[in-house]
Amino acid sequence: SPGTFRRRTLLKVIVLGDSGVGKTSLMNQYVYKKFSHQYKATIGADFVTRELQIDDKLVTLQIWDTAGQERFQSLGAAFYRGADCCVLVYDVNVLKSFESLSNWHLEFLKQANPANPETFPFILLGNKVDVDGGHSCAVTEKRAREWCDLKGSLPYFETSAKEDINIDEAFLCVAQAALESG
Ligand code: GDP
Ligand code: MG
Repeated sequence: SPGTFRRRTLLKVIVLGDSGVGKTSLMNQYVYKKFSHQYKATIGADFVTRELQIDDKLVTLQIWDTAGQERFQSLGAAFYRGADCCVLVYDVNVLKSFESLSNWHLEFLKQANPANPETFPFILLGNKVDVDGGHSCAVTEKRAREWCDLKGSLPYFETSAKEDINIDEAFLCVAQAALESG
């Protein structure tokens, strides 16, 4: 009977941030448990998916990547359309990538034009914490958290796509935030 079917929820997640911060690597680690040092500008697909269970709900995260266009052109309406959560990424070792965050935040709000911009779920990831054992860090956790507070208490995770640090935790938070707001 229809009653035996579990509800399956599809959530669209987009990942934004400067080129080179590790957006593609984070997704590859989360979905395929793989990391590569090779720099690849494109993964040849618009999105990857991973299913997870939250309480009694089956959730499919559809995670959209850029194909490197973030460097020189806008990402287009289809990329932003219908997003349920926006993951902002910077590289903790590169100050400029942190300083770009406000622009990415603004660009998302402008392009996706969510019904409720004040409460739309954003999450911040400070990636590459593995580099130099964290000694080369250009942006302190405190500074990152202050930025998150300014934008409305955004959740913050320090991650490494290389060492698989905090990625499952971050995307679980993404799914929960998207579910709650939807
Ligand atoms: P994107 O342009 O934001 O998609 O960044 P990529 O995922 O292509 O990564 C850019 C470069 O940084 C590649 O050479 C990756 O191997 C490297 N990289 C990505 N994440 C990490 C990380 O957590 N730690 C280290 N050490 N390198 C990383
Ligand atoms: Mg990429």
